[in-house]
Amino acid sequence: MKLERVLPFSKTLLKMAIEHGDIAIDATIGNGHDTVYLAELVGENGHVYGFDIQDDAMKATASRLSENGLSGRVTLFKESHENAAACLPESAVGNAAAAIFNLGYLPGGDKEVVTKPQSTIHAIEQLFNVMKPGGIIVLVIYHGHPGGKQERDAVLEYVQQLDQKQAHVLQYQFLNQKNSAPFIVAIEKMQG
Ligand code: SAM
Repeated sequence: MKLERVLPFSKTLLKMAIEHGDIAIDATIGNGHDTVYLAELVGENGHVYGFDIQDDAMKATASRLSENGLSGRVTLFKESHENAAACLPESAVGNAAAAIFNLGYLPGGDKEVVTKPQSTIHAIEQLFNVMKPGGIIVLVIYHGHPGGKQERDAVLEYVQQLDQKQAHVLQYQFLNQKNSAPFIVAIEKMQG
């Protein structure tokens, strides 16, 4: 057998959580690969909301969506994900099936612009409220860059203290890899 690798496993989790017609959130759109994937999963009657703070990410994602004919089912906000709750329509709150974060910097972009512990945790808190029962927040944690270890540790500390009656928290990680390989934390919102 072959254990599923970390990045494919993040997609597997999203695929298991999302059905056609659902609402999904990409909290760090970057170059738009996950945004396209989410847009395909929600289908033409669903909707994806995406966030990033960089123009380059907005442009790259918008053009990737357009190339794939998916622009109509995605709304992009040039806004920090820590302000997600203020941006999302009321109809999304309590109804989203999944959200994904890829922490770190924009591949091919400015390595100085990275996700930060406090804003990441604020965003997780807000998006947890936006999830429907059974919804899932997937975090792909890159921690090899400057500041990455601090963010990793802050996020792990935060998720470990979540009430087990409200959330199931999973960590998916290969333990013998070198070079600070990324790993996954997934937060499932408990049913009722
Ligand atoms: N998922 C992306 C893809 O498919 O290409 C990669 C995302 S990249 C690892 C991380 C992104 O998070 C960067 O584009 C960066 O600009 C963005 N970012 C950093 N801080 C942010 C914040 N506070 N709110 C939203 N996005 C942020």
